[in-house]
Amino acid sequence: MSEPCFLCQAVAGEIDLPGGILWKDDRVIAFHSPPTHANPRPCIGQCMVVPRRHAQLADLTADEVESVIHASRALISALRAEGLAGVALDQVGPASGVGHYSVIVGARQGSHDEIDEFVNGLRAHL
Ligand SMILES: [Zn+2]
Repeated sequence: MSEPCFLCQAVAGEIDLPGGILWKDDRVIAFHSPPTHANPRPCIGQCMVVPRRHAQLADLTADEVESVIHASRALISALRAEGLAGVALDQVGPASGVGHYSVIVGARQGSHDEIDEFVNGLRAHL
């Protein structure tokens, strides 16, 4: 049996997401990225935009791609409104070994204690 897909679990609400869902529509969710074993320090400014369907970019519909870009743009605007000018955008695709496409919208590192305040600040701009 293969490992469950972390992103599908996030979409299904099966894992705890620090700060909760930031953005959602019928095709996409966006949330603050929780810490992982590979990166145990939470990334306070890192948000993930994830299609609800387990698929790579090339297999997404035009509507799904549009939702990914729309949510990414909204998060970047919210990060800017919070005064974070240096926003990076990364895509996670097949080369990462993850079969579920996602976009990471990142800004800065911070402590786990700051996540709720940070995410609530973003949410006010979305
Ligand atoms: Zn998945």
